[in-house]
Amino acid sequence: MTKTERFTLLRILISAAIFAMASFLLLRGLYSFFAFLVSYLIVGGGVVKEAFLNILHGQVFDENFLMTVATIGAFALGEFPEAVAVMLFYQVGEVLQAIAVNHSRASIADLMDIRPQYANLMENGTLIRTEPEKVSVGTLIYVKPGERIPLDGMVMEGTSALDTAALTGESMPREVTAGDSVVSGCINLSGMLAVRVSKEFEDSTVAKILELVESASEKKSKSENFITKFARWYTPAVVFSALALAFLPPLWMGGWQTWIYRALTFLVISCPCALVLSVPLSFFCGIGGASKCGILIKGSNYIEALSQAGIVVFDKTGTLTEGVFQVTDVHPTDRGRSDLLELAALVESVSNHPISRSLLRAWNAPLDLARVSDVKEVPGCGLSATVDKTHSVAVGNHSMMRQIGITVPDRGVRQETLIHVAVDGRYAGWIVISDQIRTDSRQAVEELRRIGIRKTVLLTGDTKVVADRISASLGLDESHSDLLPSDKVSDVEALLAEKREQETLIYMGDGVNDAPVLARADVGVAMGGLGSDAALEAADVVIMTDEPSKLVTAVLLARKTMSIVRQNLIFAISVKGLVLALGGLGLVNLWAAVFADVGVSILAVLNALRVLKVTSWRKRR
Ligand code: ADP
Ligand code: MG
Repeated sequence: MTKTERFTLLRILISAAIFAMASFLLLRGLYSFFAFLVSYLIVGGGVVKEAFLNILHGQVFDENFLMTVATIGAFALGEFPEAVAVMLFYQVGEVLQAIAVNHSRASIADLMDIRPQYANLMENGTLIRTEPEKVSVGTLIYVKPGERIPLDGMVMEGTSALDTAALTGESMPREVTAGDSVVSGCINLSGMLAVRVSKEFEDSTVAKILELVESASEKKSKSENFITKFARWYTPAVVFSALALAFLPPLWMGGWQTWIYRALTFLVISCPCALVLSVPLSFFCGIGGASKCGILIKGSNYIEALSQAGIVVFDKTGTLTEGVFQVTDVHPTDRGRSDLLELAALVESVSNHPISRSLLRAWNAPLDLARVSDVKEVPGCGLSATVDKTHSVAVGNHSMMRQIGITVPDRGVRQETLIHVAVDGRYAGWIVISDQIRTDSRQAVEELRRIGIRKTVLLTGDTKVVADRISASLGLDESHSDLLPSDKVSDVEALLAEKREQETLIYMGDGVNDAPVLARADVGVAMGGLGSDAALEAADVVIMTDEPSKLVTAVLLARKTMSIVRQNLIFAISVKGLVLALGGLGLVNLWAAVFADVGVSILAVLNALRVLKVTSWRKRR
């Protein structure tokens, strides 16, 4: 409980004690009035003040206003105990709601908890603590066992296991050793690590994730916008109905007191607390629950869109496949195999593409990077560069070769991916690389179908043979091959056009050269968020681990969140409507009205908290 909550609780208790005493002693007249007034002011003073302040700010019709008018009115009618009771219950409800909201925030705070406090630097043989913000790129920092890794970097010395759970939801520790890159936010479990910092704090994984989560609540879903609009006309409508109820019937029926009392009851009932609170809270819980599973959702609008997923489009390399290519063969035309591989590795040395990283791994020897200049990356095709100041070298697929006017000799039908090399405008040979389908991909596609996704599609820049093999082995509905990044956008647009009503299209990629498609889809999901800035930035939903099947979790969680939102909306509106009607007819008194409102709020909040029960989700996945 926070300080303010404890304070409110204290006021409730004191006020309730005075209330009980006043009722028990059967005080009369002025004594009674003063006892209840004190009790009222202690518990409700804040609400009355808030109502007045809001009126001064031109915001007349809110729940504070409703409560104030209703309770002051009750006082005027001499219904002192009712006036105090209304406030008491209202405040109890508010405290309970605050506790519930904090509870759901706590899971996002788990994630927020990744903010590192310090980095250890070595100075004159001793470790000193420095703020992570002040450490520059290239500095060597030391992370002791039990400490959080403060900045992204590469391990220079030491071996250890890392706890990545706060970022990925993954409970298995990850082993790291010299040469591995590590990301901020993970906890170093076993050994001392010396890490060379590769990014300033503001560009680090932790800073990016925090920024993303903090801005998540700004993107409102349709349901939330609906609530805001609803509240805008609802409250004034209620206030005018109450006025009409108080003054119109008595004109010809008489009985002012009764009708004013009914109008006040009506006002208390009308307080839309449950509605206003439970919908955003449900989304909040959805985002929190997802983050516990290592899925970052950048706004509640994406929860809504995810829940309506009808078409899922996958990128191939690095998404459905491991993206860790093995070089299985090297075919030079007129130089040594190792020369061809070195040339390719040199040209690829600056790129982050999975193919580039794989070629570098295959070369596995020192490279003199000073030999390379003018590197140009053509997304979805390959790279060109100048090597040794004189030779222009191009590395890539068919269309890369076509772009520099080279026809690739026919290699027959190949199941693997071929990387062609050209030197000074002449064909110089090819390298055969092959990639593994992720074991998780098949499960992902299968489960997507089972949960009712209508169509699954593969888009790739690779050849038709490779695309067909993968799509057949995974059981995808369609595959489109030989695509440039811009072709992927137009294919996604074509698929968007064949969407059914109330259906959304999800694109899932690894964030390498597919930012335009990620943006074009209804929901762009990037995988492998750990360590990939591109993915974190371009996508609407980021899956922190390399598991396509997390998309299934995300869709199920989104559906569950939406059904809870709907339940809460329907429940709150119908109970409200019923009690309002009864109140207008004089069949419900102030006491029952308060119980109805607080009761609905609490039930709605409890319902929303169900989304957070992700432990059972994880087991099922
Ligand atoms: P995908 O659509 O499967 O994710 P990309 O669009 O990244 O793949 O790349 C499509 C094709 O372009 C690859 O299969 C490869 O032939 C070629 N290519 C792309 N980038 C590179 C690179 N850095 N080096 C060599 N070839 C590349
Ligand atoms: Mg790709």
